[in-house]
Amino acid sequence: MPVRGRVLGRIFKDNALYIKADSGTGISTILIDCGENVLRGLTVSEIRSVDYLLFTHFHFDHVCGFDSFIRHNFNRTEPPVRIFGPPGTIKYVSNRLNSFEWNLSAAENGNWEITEISPGNIRRVHLSCSDGFSMIQHEEERSSDLPGVIVSQPHFTIEAALLDHKIPVCGYSVTENDHIRFDNEAALANGLTAGPWITKLKEAHFKGQCPIMINGKEYDSVELAVKYLSIEKGEKLTCLTDFNYGPEPPEVLVNFISGSDFLFCESQYLDEDRHLAEENYHLTPSMAARLAAAGKVKKLKLFHFSRRYNLKTADLFVAQASEHFQQVENALDDKS
Ligand SMILES: [Zn+2]
Ligand SMILES: [Zn+2]
Repeated sequence: MPVRGRVLGRIFKDNALYIKADSGTGISTILIDCGENVLRGLTVSEIRSVDYLLFTHFHFDHVCGFDSFIRHNFNRTEPPVRIFGPPGTIKYVSNRLNSFEWNLSAAENGNWEITEISPGNIRRVHLSCSDGFSMIQHEEERSSDLPGVIVSQPHFTIEAALLDHKIPVCGYSVTENDHIRFDNEAALANGLTAGPWITKLKEAHFKGQCPIMINGKEYDSVELAVKYLSIEKGEKLTCLTDFNYGPEPPEVLVNFISGSDFLFCESQYLDEDRHLAEENYHLTPSMAARLAAAGKVKKLKLFHFSRRYNLKTADLFVAQASEHFQQVENALDDKS
């Protein structure tokens, strides 16, 4: 039941991250950012079934493809279009929706939820295609700590943290919930055939000790659990782009990425252009790698390289990062 990310867009061009969280019984999809032409990497049906669109921020290169997203999703009703982003998200998204004429779509009932993540509070508004997205249908607000959970689903959670890009930028983590694995072979070897008791045994893990009847004989749930159940840790994928963290990786960010199986991290400038990274609030390969090492992530995948570079220098990004962290790849090489 993996969580996998695929970078959309081309090297030295706008990028986005398309994530699939596979629960075994269904797949949820998450799109982080929507730069120019990135949606060309998805089919129309994939664009129409994105469950969550998470904006990191609203610089051109992260939002230029949003018109295409609107075009494919304006009349979606179920599930509604769900968008999250940093302070300003409600203004930017609703302004964009309000920059089109919708007079021929008045019979459509597209439902949009736009959620703005700010320090201390999360605000959500609901807009509808039927009135040309001009009125807030409903508004909710709740307090929230950051970094913190912004989406909680039965099989995964999404957390957000705010990063410094001279404006607040959202970093995101998608984490599968831990799941319980039943050792069918071991049970069979002891003469216990499959049946509804397995579900009851798994439930007992959360609800507490209870007797379990198997083929007319009573067993203790704790004894069965020790023999046949194990907890598999869910995978975690983190995406951080467009930020600078100062001289050393800060503890709050290290904790946020800690336990990640995959860290997709920007590396806008090469190490020799570190002064540009500092001026423009971005990272170099060494900075991304030192962050990955501090957070003990399993794999670092670099993306979002500046268009000032070209293919002759493409290998330098991984080379410079690998001096500080071994498990590093160019995410743009990965088209799986
Ligand atoms: Zn950018
Ligand atoms: Zn930016």
